[in-house]
Amino acid sequence: MGSGQVTDWQGKNVTVAGLGVSGVPAAKVLHGLGARVTVVNDGDDERARAQAAELRALGVTVRLGDGATLPEGTELIVTAPGWKPDKPLFAAAAEADVPVWGDVELAWRLRGRDGRNAAPWLCVTGTNGKTTTTQMLAAILKAAGLRTAAVGNIGVSLLDAVLGEEEYRDLDVLAVELSSYQLHWAPSLRAHSAAVLNLAPDHLDWHGSMEAYARDKGRIYEGNRVACVYNADATDKPSTEDLVREADVEEGCRAVGFTLGTPGPSQLGVVDGILVDRAFVENRHKNAQELAEVSDVNPPAPHNVANALAAAALARAFGVPARAVRDGLRAFTPDAHRIAHVADVSGVAYVDDSKATNTHAAQASLAAYESIVWIAGGLAKGATFDEVVAQSAKRLRGVVLIGADRELIREALVRHAPEVPVVDLDRTDTGAMLQAVQEAQRLARPGDTVLLAPACASMDMFANYNKRGDAFAEAVRELGA
Ligand code: ADP
Repeated sequence: MGSGQVTDWQGKNVTVAGLGVSGVPAAKVLHGLGARVTVVNDGDDERARAQAAELRALGVTVRLGDGATLPEGTELIVTAPGWKPDKPLFAAAAEADVPVWGDVELAWRLRGRDGRNAAPWLCVTGTNGKTTTTQMLAAILKAAGLRTAAVGNIGVSLLDAVLGEEEYRDLDVLAVELSSYQLHWAPSLRAHSAAVLNLAPDHLDWHGSMEAYARDKGRIYEGNRVACVYNADATDKPSTEDLVREADVEEGCRAVGFTLGTPGPSQLGVVDGILVDRAFVENRHKNAQELAEVSDVNPPAPHNVANALAAAALARAFGVPARAVRDGLRAFTPDAHRIAHVADVSGVAYVDDSKATNTHAAQASLAAYESIVWIAGGLAKGATFDEVVAQSAKRLRGVVLIGADRELIREALVRHAPEVPVVDLDRTDTGAMLQAVQEAQRLARPGDTVLLAPACASMDMFANYNKRGDAFAEAVRELGA
């Protein structure tokens, strides 16, 4: 199983690692191609048993409760993206020289097969802003009259997009969101063009180190044909530009930066409230093309303008006219819980950015407001809070802390913002959100923003970040009632 297309799957022994969102469709597809499929899964719960029953009925072998042993005769493993590379199954695979692909790699290898969707991929990754940027990109492509869909880590699996139903058959181009896990397991993916939005420490327990995380993100640039889009404002090391430099791309592929400042040649940026392109224009040393106004971006917070520029760069790399960038951005509305304005109560704005599940995201949304009562806390996932607190200290009217790891944030506040009043809620039940919002209301003055941007995961108190945001919105509605 080299780097080319696999044409004959008949009788191939393929092990699918992990049931679930990607495993079940992967097993079905492979079985349909004639492969002999064995699924291995760590868990043996009710859901796993139901999925196993469905697959067994098709003739797929399923082993529940043992995800560690490599089945005899395995020629290829197709793994769920979340499986950690240090699992014993992969050590056994390396020993036996068995390649490991993720579901994205499988989709990439199968694209174009039997006349199925062979549309080029425009790919987006980054620590934060992936979903938003991918959706903006799809909106811009649609505004240009292209048939497209936002797929990947965003909810539609690439297997479905490449092999699946009618709606994906005749697309011109795919807007693809990729996580660092998916990239790790997608060695031969070659995008038309790709963007890494930003790079901040996240998921380091999975990747093992910042270098390994950056390396996996950087894979998105490998083999790009037209443009590698990087963040020209980033100060982190390695920068996304460093990743472009290290990538092996096709002859003629360009590095295109995006910046919130005035763009240089081969960059997109902002001049006097206008998004401008100095990359995809004739004579880029002299000319610039106006694309849209900052006010066309929803919401026009700085980090979101950066997302819009990255989406515009990918669309322009695909040949989309300037007008479509503006129309697409105007047509775009962000998903729930991403800087969503919930209500104004007594002159105070209440904003739900429950999706800010890490410090980098929270820092971006804190930078978007002048005077803030910040609701923060939850599961820290190994993060430290000194930077986000130090950067935001002067904007904080007050802080309300919730969740299991709130002590870590409190300590950072003591170090970097000792003057800022802090309410520390010593409870992790779901009802704590109402109390948090009431405390925030007490701290806020007219003109302030009460911002839920927890910088932490939600699972200590809520099923997920959606539920956390819903609880916030409900609590705000009770204030207003
Ligand atoms: P992802 O898909 O990468 O998780 P989203 O588009 O869903 O990204 O946004 C997640 C959160 O990250 C948002 O709620 C916002 O707080 C923050 N965010 C979005 N874009 C950026 C960016 N470019 N830089 C930093 N933070 C961002």
